[in-house]
Amino acid sequence: MRHVAIVGSGPAGYYTAETLQKADDIAVDVIDRLPVPYGLIRTGVAPDHQSIKAVSRRYEGTALTDNVRFVGHVSVGTDVTIDELAGLYDAVILATGAPNDRPLDIPGADLPGVIGSAAFVGWYNGHPDFADLNPPLGAPGVVVIGNGNVALDVARILAKTPGEFAGSDIVAHARDALAGSAVRHIQILGRRGPHQIAMTPKELGELGHLERASPRVDPADLPPEGDDALLEPGMRKSVTHLRSFAANPVAKPVTIDFDFFAMPVAIEGDGRVQRVIVERTTLDADLTSHGTGETYALDAGLVISCIGYQTPPIPGVPYEHGRGRFASDEGRILPGLYAVGWARRGPSGTIGTNKPDGARIGEMVLEDIGRGAGKAGRPGLDALLASRDVTPVTFRDWRRIEEAEVAAALDGRPREKFTSVEAMLTALGR
Ligand code: NAP
Repeated sequence: MRHVAIVGSGPAGYYTAETLQKADDIAVDVIDRLPVPYGLIRTGVAPDHQSIKAVSRRYEGTALTDNVRFVGHVSVGTDVTIDELAGLYDAVILATGAPNDRPLDIPGADLPGVIGSAAFVGWYNGHPDFADLNPPLGAPGVVVIGNGNVALDVARILAKTPGEFAGSDIVAHARDALAGSAVRHIQILGRRGPHQIAMTPKELGELGHLERASPRVDPADLPPEGDDALLEPGMRKSVTHLRSFAANPVAKPVTIDFDFFAMPVAIEGDGRVQRVIVERTTLDADLTSHGTGETYALDAGLVISCIGYQTPPIPGVPYEHGRGRFASDEGRILPGLYAVGWARRGPSGTIGTNKPDGARIGEMVLEDIGRGAGKAGRPGLDALLASRDVTPVTFRDWRRIEEAEVAAALDGRPREKFTSVEAMLTALGR
């Protein structure tokens, strides 16, 4: 029997498990520090994007195969070390994603009211680490930094009415806080221009259909229309949305302004954020931005930095600090130790990008481990955890948690998520 441990039960973890479980004589343990599986599908993908979240049914199919086991509520680094896992399994695959925000390295970024997108997204999606975030929503101005899809998610969630969350699984604390929000002006800052956005057309197009909010683009920021022909088709579609927002400004109570060529250089306020100092930029020939020296201030009671994520390092595991991911040769970190998904590539691509990645790493692992080295595997992990009084949450347990969440749902909503580990364990009678 060959034994493989996957650390992280998000898309990269389950796509890798899907490939591995098709092999003979293999036992795959998918370990997660939370009692609930699916990583970013549960706590990252926007709650009003249920069709994307539906991919978890595919992961469930993998989780229910005989040779895959979910080992929840087990923290690698605390309950068991990487070295211990390496001693027990033929291969250990790090599918830990990139849950930390890239730091916003400007003066004032540590003021209360400046929040990274990992925290804000985790808050509205019920990640137990961020349930108590309590973001300040009492001022009309919010600045969202970054021109990627996360910035769009954040702006859209801030702008929606309670009714627009029908059918979503946004958690109750976020739903209630957003219902009482005073936010009226959302400024999305891009340090480069409309042709350099990292926003996909579907997500951008959604902003044009919000009940009480309208997107606004300054026509002066748009390059000549003929230049769009040079863009790849998806990007051209995205820019077409921006052109349409610029050409058809709609008066609604909440505005979402795209502020291009705008780089935040400082955040100021008396004990909490009150304004963002922004410097106008221009682009160099290589399309990088540089400041022009011209600055202006934007009033804001909340700043959300959506400038990308990092994988947290693990002591003893080679790491690329500049890229915020594990150092690997196409996925091989050290003999027997692998990375997959964002932990390998960095935080780019969609959920689906992890499918070929997981398949490739799964096949690589199968080739490397051959028939296995007769390691202890699952029984070894179980004995080790039992000796430490650690009781894992099984996939069957997770389904009981899920049933309780579904049973608690009101108004046709898919579920009412538990937002603390304690509540999840209470649902199991622990
Ligand atoms: P992203 O796509 O890498 O975008 C990051 C943005 O932050 C870029 O516009 C970047 O500008 C900007 N930025 C970086 N450092 C900055 C700084 N110091 N100051 C100002 N701006 C800065 O990252 P993301 O939005 O976090 O998304 C991560 C991945 O998840 C992406 O692949 C995304 O497509 C995916 N995602 C997909 C969906 C969906 O499909 N619905 C939803 C959410 C996320 P520059 O270009 O100038 O560096």
